[in-house]
Amino acid sequence: MNIVVCVKYVPDATADRRFESDNTVDRVGVDGLLSELDEYAVEQALQIKEKAGDETTVTVLTVGPEKAVDAVRKALQMGADQGVHVVDEAIAGSDAVATSLVLAKAVEKAGAESPVDLVVCGMASTDGAMSVVPAMLAERLDLPQVTFASVIETQGDQVRIKRDGDTATEVIGGTMPLVLSVTDQTGEARYPSFKGIMAAKKKPLQTWSLAELGVEADQVGLSVAWSVVEETSARPPRTAGEIVTDEDGSGAKALTEFLAAKKFI
Ligand SMILES: Cc1cc2nc3c(=O)[nH]c(=O)nc-3n(C[C@H](O)[C@H](O)[C@H](O)COP(=O)(O)OP(=O)(O)OC[C@H]3O[C@@H](n4cnc5c(N)ncnc54)[C@H](O)[C@@H]3O)c2cc1C
Repeated sequence: MNIVVCVKYVPDATADRRFESDNTVDRVGVDGLLSELDEYAVEQALQIKEKAGDETTVTVLTVGPEKAVDAVRKALQMGADQGVHVVDEAIAGSDAVATSLVLAKAVEKAGAESPVDLVVCGMASTDGAMSVVPAMLAERLDLPQVTFASVIETQGDQVRIKRDGDTATEVIGGTMPLVLSVTDQTGEARYPSFKGIMAAKKKPLQTWSLAELGVEADQVGLSVAWSVVEETSARPPRTAGEIVTDEDGSGAKALTEFLAAKKFI
């Protein structure tokens, strides 16, 4: 089986995050990492491989700036077999439409010798969080999609997932090849072991440009994005809270009045 996992390199949410002067996210001058939600996708791909046997290859694929290769490396350390990093200056500022185009062309190239059976994605990136790339990818690859899986079962080329909605849980089945996206309910992602970290250094990691994928520079980037961020402003600093003291027994009344004024009670 040939599995491709799409992983995104995102700014670290716990570190300082900034915008560029064109209002795109600064992905170069900040600390970044493999999107936490994509760790679940890597984990599920590895579990599917473990069940299917050694004939299965897990390729991790990222589209992003130079530093995005760190996301691929982390997935290799977790146990993926090989990595692909699509990097090209023209990609900067791409929207989900353009990102899905580049990913689709890369999946096609990854499957040139042995067709891809399964494309695994996270449920959303932790920066853009649009949750649209997997569906766009399926459309571009002309594949069925089973998305937002909380439980995944595979048997041969059959895939069954549970998809939790607000009012019901659906069980959806599909036949490979297909695109699968997984949620954070699928189970903890494994940590890279020391052995995994050492082994990852020797795993194949390819870098592809847009030209190698047959994508023109004017098909991607901010200039052809369907939407633009016109303005950004920093969140106002948190103000100090109101402290209710209870030196003379009036604290409960003051607290109740405060909550009532804010319509909390
Ligand atoms: C602050 C901000 C500003 C933005 N500005 C603009 C703008 O000006 N114009 C515009 O059109 N768009 C803009 N975007 C959208 C942004 O470019 C998209 O968010 C992005 O291209 C893909 O969408 P997503 O990250 O929401 O992916 P989602 O659809 O949430 O991702 C789902 C899954 O797809 C896969 N995936 C997504 N991206 C990649 C990748 N690069 N490599 C590998 N796998 C991937 C992962 O498996 C991921 O879990 C902005 C987003 C933000 C947060």
